[in-house]
Amino acid sequence: MRKVMKSCGIISTLQALSRDPGADGAALSEVVRRYPFRTNEYYQGLIRQTGDPLWRQVMPDAMELSDDAGLQDPLAEEALSPVPNLVHRYPNRVLWLVSHECALHCRFCTRKRRWSSPLPMTGELLRDGLRYIRENPQVNDVLLSGGDPLLLDPSRLETILGELRHIPHVAVLRIGTRVPCALPERVTGELATMLARHHPLFLNIHFNHPREITEESRRACALLADAGIPLGSQTVLLRDVNDDAHVLGELFQTLLGLRVRPYYLMQMDLTRGTAHFRTPLSRGLEIVARLRNRISGMAVPQLVVDLPGGLGKVPLVPNRIEHIGEDHVVFRSYQGAPCRYPVREEEAREMREVLGMVRV
Ligand SMILES: *Cc1c(COP(=O)(O)O)cnc(C)c1O
Ligand code: SF4
Repeated sequence: MRKVMKSCGIISTLQALSRDPGADGAALSEVVRRYPFRTNEYYQGLIRQTGDPLWRQVMPDAMELSDDAGLQDPLAEEALSPVPNLVHRYPNRVLWLVSHECALHCRFCTRKRRWSSPLPMTGELLRDGLRYIRENPQVNDVLLSGGDPLLLDPSRLETILGELRHIPHVAVLRIGTRVPCALPERVTGELATMLARHHPLFLNIHFNHPREITEESRRACALLADAGIPLGSQTVLLRDVNDDAHVLGELFQTLLGLRVRPYYLMQMDLTRGTAHFRTPLSRGLEIVARLRNRISGMAVPQLVVDLPGGLGKVPLVPNRIEHIGEDHVVFRSYQGAPCRYPVREEEAREMREVLGMVRV
């Protein structure tokens, strides 16, 4: 396989910040001591000015230190790891952290606790993870994440995928990655061909802003889609980055055009050091309510909140039911028009019960 990695222009010193005249050097040094800075030449090249939506995603901010209310590990991933780096939260699927490197450090990352003291990813831990999956036949869906699995040496990733494919009860493989968006030069035809040898394999790409879609990221997505890999996207809802229906509508529609199906729009987790990125819960609901029916349904992802304590993701869905009567339900259309929908009395009663159940 062609050697594409070398350094890939990874930048990890604050020198890169020096062109920002407003930066408070001492405060930022403290920030990056706690949460190391990492970016790369490609992504830096997309930034147009200080404070723009791409800048905010990667540049350290003094506010990261003033948020003590957040949790180190909001999703209780460490507690839910039967072996290190492998999170088993739902019965049939596991999240396996196989890399601790990323193309860049997103300042809002849920796993930023790991940046300064990453758990080692030794061959022994990989064997432990594989053994756990082998010994738990209910696990039929393995989601590789990190860090970013596509920053692993491709031959190492191929070994991991191959080992998983040898486990008969593992049906679906998934990779969560930011590489096609944040370091697209890492995606080569060889890599796409290698991934496609492990079907069914799905790739979910982390994209947050329409300006992350460039010639290079388009090319990376096309290579993967042409190799037959179903592509999805995950987007984190971020204050002053993408918390706007026009921005997200454009992002999701453009992604669909690249054969990337928007999958999740995620409410910011309650991670310590990220409060300045969090939007009120109502914001995401408002945005998906505005997008629904106005753009293709295939372009609207599911808005989810990942519950603290590792209780799992729950969908947040705008309420379009205004009233449940004796023999009818009143819906509200996307344009705000009320619609009286006739139902049998028994049906109305069941509706009230079912909705009451989820409302608790
Ligand atoms: C998000 C997540 C999954 C996958 O959930 P899906 O809803 O199936 O995409 C699995 N395990 C953990 C720990 C997760 O956080
Ligand atoms: S790419 Fe993902 S794991 Fe890596 S820093 Fe960004 S959000 Fe975190």
